[in-house]
Amino acid sequence: MPTNCPLCGSHLIHEARPRTITYRDHTASISQTADYCDSCGEAFLSPSDSKSTEKAVADFKRKVDHLLTSDEIKEIRRKYKITQKQAATLFGGGINAFSKYERGEAIQNRSTDLLLKLIADEIVNMETLLKVSQNQAS
Ligand SMILES: [Zn+2]
Repeated sequence: MPTNCPLCGSHLIHEARPRTITYRDHTASISQTADYCDSCGEAFLSPSDSKSTEKAVADFKRKVDHLLTSDEIKEIRRKYKITQKQAATLFGGGINAFSKYERGEAIQNRSTDLLLKLIADEIVNMETLLKVSQNQAS
């Protein structure tokens, strides 16, 4: 980790500061850790700094788009006691889809989101979904 700013040579401070994010005309403030330079105002993000806000950024975009958040997806999956792998088999999106959705690394598409909501509200029951899914596989 560099201790001096690569741009101006001043000392860098690693800490969390508020960062404004914008998405489709909506703004939010999140807490962002980074190496900050108070001389030139530059912020340097390590991969782990970026990763630490991945979920907050994804959840902010989801709220703007009226999609389920990471925690809401996890809650639905836990309600029906299915693993991330089982959820991926049922809802599609690839074997790691649900681990990515729940970490905020990827955002579920609208059809997956809709099906999850129908299941959560018990408009479609899990038993029916399992049956349909098994028929697709055979
Ligand atoms: Zn600087």
